[in-house]
Amino acid sequence: MLDKKALDRAEVAAQCPHCGHQQSAVFGQLKRDPRVTCLACGDAYDTEPDKLEQQIAQALRSAQQRLNRQMKRFK
Ligand SMILES: [Zn+2]
Repeated sequence: MLDKKALDRAEVAAQCPHCGHQQSAVFGQLKRDPRVTCLACGDAYDTEPDKLEQQIAQALRSAQQRLNRQMKRFK
């Protein structure tokens, strides 16, 4: 089960399509407003929360699996 709060707090990397600058953004904010303003060139662009959600879900799952494996090792 995916923790909704963990998802909303997760940081994602947004990349500016104009200059390529990467900056982190909080997913919960992007869901409300997918528009990000590039800190490097000042351009505004839209992120894709649906795609980002899949990336985060995957990252959270693999982090959970790593944790489970470590827990087993210490038993
Ligand atoms: Zn930019």
